[in-house]
Amino acid sequence: MSNSSIFKQIVEKKISANIIYEDKKITAFEDIKPKAPVHILIIPNIFIASLNDINKKNKDILGHMFYIAVNIAKEKKISKEGYRIVVNCNKNAGQEIEYLHMHLLGGKKLSVLL
Ligand code: AMP
Repeated sequence: MSNSSIFKQIVEKKISANIIYEDKKITAFEDIKPKAPVHILIIPNIFIASLNDINKKNKDILGHMFYIAVNIAKEKKISKEGYRIVVNCNKNAGQEIEYLHMHLLGGKKLSVLL
C-alpha cells in the first residue's frame, strides 16, 4: 500500500481532483484511472486507514458513504442499469492507498467477481 497523503491532500485541497460531492464528513471525486465510464471514489474527510479501523465511534461514516454513493449513482443515471460499490481492504484485496475509500463503478456491464 502506498501512503495515505494523496487522499488527505485531496480533502485539504492541496492537490487537485475532480470533486463531484463534498460535505462535512466525506468527499467524492473521480478516480484518476477509471475502470468504468463512471468510477467515483468516496472517502471520509477524517483519516481512517482501512475497513479494519472502523470502530464504535466512527462506524456511522460507512452508512453515510453508502448513502451518498447511491445518490451519486442516481445522479449519474447508472442506478437503473446497475452499479457496483467496492471497498478493498489490505493487500489481498488490492488496497493500494492506505486511506479508507469506496469505489462506485458503473456505466457498463461489469465483469462478475463472485
Ligand atoms: P485501491 O486499489 O482500492 O486502493 O484504489 C485506489 C484508487 O485510487 C485507484 O483506483 C487509483 O486509480 C485511485 N487514485 C490514486 N491516486 C489518485 C488521485 N490522485 N486522484 C484520483 N484517484 C486516484
